[in-house]
Amino acid sequence: MQQIETMCHIQTCNTIIVGSGAAGYSAAERLWQLGQHDILLLTEGKNAGTSRNTGSDKQTYYKLTLSGDGQDSYTEMAQTLFQGGSIDGDQALAEAVGSVPCFIHLAELGVPFPTNRWGEYVGYKTDHDPRDRATSAGPLTSRMMTEALERSVNQLGVPILDHHLLLQILTEQNQVQGVICLDMDLEKLVLIRCRNLILATGGPACLYADSVYPASQHGANGIAFACGAHGQNLTEWQYGIASLHPRWNVSGTYMQVLPRFFSTEQDGSDPREFLQEAFPCYEDMLNQIFLKGYQWPFDSRKALDGSSRLDLLVYQERSLRGRRVFLDYRQNPENREIVWDLLSPEASAYLRKAGALQDTPFARLSHMNQPAVDFYRSRGVNLAAEPLEIALCAQHNNGGIAVNSWWHTQVEGLFAIGEAAGTHGVYRPGGTALNAGQVGALRCARYIAANRKGDPDDLSSSNQDHLHIWKEWIAALRSRPENAQNIAAHLRRSMSDGAGAFRSLSRMEELHEQVQSLLSHFPDPIGAGSGKTGLIQALRLRDQLLTMEVYLTAMMDYAKHCQHSRGSALYQTVDGYLPHISSAVIPELFRFLPDDGSLNHQIQETIYSPEGSTTNWRPVRPIPDRSSDFFENIWRGYRENQNISDE
Ligand SMILES: Cc1cc2nc3c(=O)[nH]c(=O)nc-3n(C[C@H](O)[C@H](O)[C@H](O)COP(=O)(O)OP(=O)(O)OC[C@H]3O[C@@H](n4cnc5c(N)ncnc54)[C@H](O)[C@@H]3O)c2cc1C
Repeated sequence: MQQIETMCHIQTCNTIIVGSGAAGYSAAERLWQLGQHDILLLTEGKNAGTSRNTGSDKQTYYKLTLSGDGQDSYTEMAQTLFQGGSIDGDQALAEAVGSVPCFIHLAELGVPFPTNRWGEYVGYKTDHDPRDRATSAGPLTSRMMTEALERSVNQLGVPILDHHLLLQILTEQNQVQGVICLDMDLEKLVLIRCRNLILATGGPACLYADSVYPASQHGANGIAFACGAHGQNLTEWQYGIASLHPRWNVSGTYMQVLPRFFSTEQDGSDPREFLQEAFPCYEDMLNQIFLKGYQWPFDSRKALDGSSRLDLLVYQERSLRGRRVFLDYRQNPENREIVWDLLSPEASAYLRKAGALQDTPFARLSHMNQPAVDFYRSRGVNLAAEPLEIALCAQHNNGGIAVNSWWHTQVEGLFAIGEAAGTHGVYRPGGTALNAGQVGALRCARYIAANRKGDPDDLSSSNQDHLHIWKEWIAALRSRPENAQNIAAHLRRSMSDGAGAFRSLSRMEELHEQVQSLLSHFPDPIGAGSGKTGLIQALRLRDQLLTMEVYLTAMMDYAKHCQHSRGSALYQTVDGYLPHISSAVIPELFRFLPDDGSLNHQIQETIYSPEGSTTNWRPVRPIPDRSSDFFENIWRGYRENQNISDE
């Protein structure tokens, strides 16, 4: 049996930032600029994660209107965010206010957000956006942000510890004391003491098999829950149609050019245009495909008679009928000529205006958005010659770790920012995820620099024991042949089938039982074998189990608490309605009751416990009233502590 060596207490610092995505780099940069240099950025992979490895046909950043004569205001933008439902008003206001400095900072770091000749950042309307607040630097906005912030962090000289996997957050009396991680190169355990820990570990991509998160993203929310951080709005996700190889959202023009949808058996036999059976009227089907372009995430409000029926039919083919589903740009749906005048006025006017009336979806796509074609070609897919395999995929977790308006969790000294934090509600305008990551980074850095300087406390004796527990666990994992990868994949498949966009209480309960059993016996019966990859997979599996335990608890509670479906998920309900599609048999899994908005002012919190997680519902915090703000008083407060406090 291979014994793992440990290095103990190798380092002590004021603040550790975990994660090298757009949020993590931003926090490191801000802390350094605020004079807090006793910091360390730790990551399992400098080039891993969502920000650096993902995008879409026009990846969006959401900010206050910064062009024209639109009468936008911080309060109005905060209200837009707040109206998404189940959102705290103080966070909505902080994200609205912070959007301006954070966005301008990125632009000044060199992210090429376009301006007009007067320097105005002209915007466009994104989903759930009443104004034109969205902007984009192109398909790879988040990558450009990450690279710009990384350059800045490197110039400042922030120390970075690469290839270190966070395993546990050490706390004593609900205060952070440090972390245990695995040096992935040397296969050694490392303990680092710290006073503050900023988790910028991204979304819990480890949960789903059908996923458009990059393969390098896993997340670490389970590790945060295990140390006492609460989850909030964990039920709220965005699922949408995406290609599997490469993982990429097929939103916007990819749908507006009206590709053909078809499915096959696993071996490629029996190709069938399955949308036909649901939409007997050809033009109705085309209109729904067109709408999917800018109604990309699956939305329960559009599932009865709107464009989200497409997501549902894709899911039915893959998950219920066991077939493979493809988009085909080589020919029109049903290989028919399209009579443009018979399409909805919206679709025909748009395509005419864009001059996109060519004979095939490929020709239309090349005309409207050549970079969208080039992207796939750069990944080895020629859309002119081959179909593209798709699925209904998890894309973003609106909920996550619960934080206050300084992005501080319930655990003193533990902050969560970026997608790890659960600051979004049921709906969010596109682009708010990237903004929230930057604002959270700025605000927690300000809070730490103002209130939480200094060295960490000495490590408690119980925390010293944890290192030995991990040593024993690793020895046990090593003693069994590798099986972690299969267990993790099986659990992810079950999540996609029963706890993704379509949630059935009985399937979630069954899965939850399996997860609880694996967690309570961990590390039995999991095996890592003797290789490095096996060990890393087995250790990641523990976070996956913790994450699943807490997320499934939240989803099961929602299903019991509320009969109505909302956001990007349908909860099967016997008293509900079936979507309006013309299939002979519509699965009962799709029977649901639409949202009645009754929970819009409530937030579901989930609290991990080894005996079983629990949930509670609390009212949202309102948007703060600043009408009594008076300059002299604000100035005094600012001189005293820069108005950075928990009140
Ligand atoms: C296809 C797609 C399109 C999107 N489009 C948009 C859009 O248009 N607009 C928008 O606002 N948002 C969009 N999003 C969401 C947005 O990109 C992400 O929410 C955001 O990039 C997350 O950034 P982050 O810094 O929080 O995390 P990430 O960029 O995911 O970084 C996480 C970091 O933490 C590290 N890490 C994780 N776990 C551990 C561990 N245990 N130990 C050590 N390190 C760890 C990872 O290696 C990585 O470095 C999109 C997402 C996808 C998947």
